Amino acid sequence: MQISLDTFVQLQDRPLTLRDRLLLPELNNEIRSLVRMKPVHVHVEISRTGSHQFRLQVRQSAEATFVCSRCLEEFDLPIELTWAETFTDLPVVDAEGVEVYPIGEALHLEPWVREAFLLQIPFVPICRDTCRGLCPSCGINRNKGICQCNTEHIDPRLAKLQEFKFDS
Ligand SMILES: [Zn+2]
Ligand SMILES: [Zn+2]
Repeated sequence: MQISLDTFVQLQDRPLTLRDRLLLPELNNEIRSLVRMKPVHVHVEISRTGSHQFRLQVRQSAEATFVCSRCLEEFDLPIELTWAETFTDLPVVDAEGVEVYPIGEALHLEPWVREAFLLQIPFVPICRDTCRGLCPSCGINRNKGICQCNTEHIDPRLAKLQEFKFDS
């Protein structure tokens, strides 16, 4: 998705709305817990904020599938996030206090959308807050079944000792 320099320059007072769908297949390589991601819906609103300044407000959403870091099961998680940045049609960025990025010939939105996901996708995703994970001893998924590992296990030799104690 790219927005030409002309689109910005010709913008009057009324904001411009654009919509598109992006594919970010390489995101799977960068986020280990991400299994797959459906096309990203991108909604862009551009408004003129100065003679050479433009504010981009972006809303991006996608259906993503992750591996839960506790139980290792796949789960779907819709991700929706918003961000905003200021751009300029000038070749040299000269602004104080505000971060302004040059548009160049055209603004390529894909790296921005990618970056926004990288910053906000959960680092350690879990399928739900109450996920009980795997038993460290037998590996059973504790959301699906109960194992005997947690019941108090008494060593037969110790049991003998206990008996002895009670008898005396
Ligand atoms: Zn889980
Ligand atoms: Zn167990």
